[in-house]
Amino acid sequence: MQRIYLDHNATTPLSSAVIEQMTIALGRDRGNPSSVHHFGQQAKAAVDQARSAVAALISAEPTEVVFTSGGTESDNLAIRGAAEALVPAGRRHLIASGIEHEAVLNTVKALAKRGWDVTLLPVDETGILEPERLREALTDRTALVSLMHANNEIGTVQPIAQLARLAHDRGALFHTDAVQSAGKIPVDVGALGVDLLSISAHKFYGPKGIGAIWIRRGLRLVPLVTGGKHERGRRAGTENVTGIIGMGVAAREAIANMTSEATRLSALRDRLEDAVLATIPGTVINGTRQPRVPNTTNISFDRVEAESLLIALDLEGFAVSTGSACSSGTLEPSHVLKAMGFPAHRTQNSIRFSLGKVNTAEHIDALLAALPAVVDKLRSLTRTHARI
Ligand code: PLP
Repeated sequence: MQRIYLDHNATTPLSSAVIEQMTIALGRDRGNPSSVHHFGQQAKAAVDQARSAVAALISAEPTEVVFTSGGTESDNLAIRGAAEALVPAGRRHLIASGIEHEAVLNTVKALAKRGWDVTLLPVDETGILEPERLREALTDRTALVSLMHANNEIGTVQPIAQLARLAHDRGALFHTDAVQSAGKIPVDVGALGVDLLSISAHKFYGPKGIGAIWIRRGLRLVPLVTGGKHERGRRAGTENVTGIIGMGVAAREAIANMTSEATRLSALRDRLEDAVLATIPGTVINGTRQPRVPNTTNISFDRVEAESLLIALDLEGFAVSTGSACSSGTLEPSHVLKAMGFPAHRTQNSIRFSLGKVNTAEHIDALLAALPAVVDKLRSLTRTHARI
């Protein structure tokens, strides 16, 4: 059976150039980038080259890029590091939105248990945060605002530049989780006007377990991992050199392919959406269709339990998701759709299709050929009346 992967927001397959360069690097890997001798300097040069490529992906200076173990660690370092650094200033208030990834949500919740005040902002049905909601929540005690650039479940893109300005007007720092936007749409730290930004290699055809945080020059953070002076004292520990090399190659490819892939994938995604809405009754797109990353759609299928649809599609050879990877495999309603104010049935009948480099028009045709019958079959098993 042909298997078709439509879950690129969970993770992406390694690009062949990444595999090739990482394999070469693994065979050659002898030096520690902190060592002064030839082998160490060779490793350091490779890390520096990758740092420049990652910086270019987000239009940043290489010296402001710190490698981490991935998006989760970058989010933790941004939030915990900034929160702790601002304790002496008396700023013990954090703001995030209800649709953040668990890496942000559970980090601010953990800090709430340790005495920080936390405000979780609601979003409306479009999945976009109304800037006025942020303005109302900001106080002179707000240390940090953390709002994601693109949402992992529905793909909507927040007006980060506007939101960051509001935070700065009240003297707060601004972090954005750009894990789902980097590599898909232009991410420019200067234009966004943020102080901290998280990215992760495995979302743009790089390896898992490596990511980066961009930290605006001069910003003080309390490190999470203490030890040696690696990464300019921001994150101790011998660097994951091979992972970093892979991330650098992936970043360079993402820059080269971004425009053409965005055009290609948004056309495939839009065709998928239009055809589903036209041919399957009781379907609706979750979140605004614009502004959105080009590869993502999240569709509710009335009177269908999302988990059953996911499994039925998997049996037909299609890999999709019910939402964030972390909550897949559980029957938990999507916290994103819940935060958007949708009723229970709507938060439990949504499927995310996230397209990527491996997908072709034929894949979309195959999905569109299979989907109506799968949905019909599942609906025939339920007695619930139409609700959409
Ligand atoms: N932030 C967002 C928006 C994500 O989608 C993810 C991954 O699903 C993460 C953070 C976590 O990244 P990582 O898997 O690299 O820890």
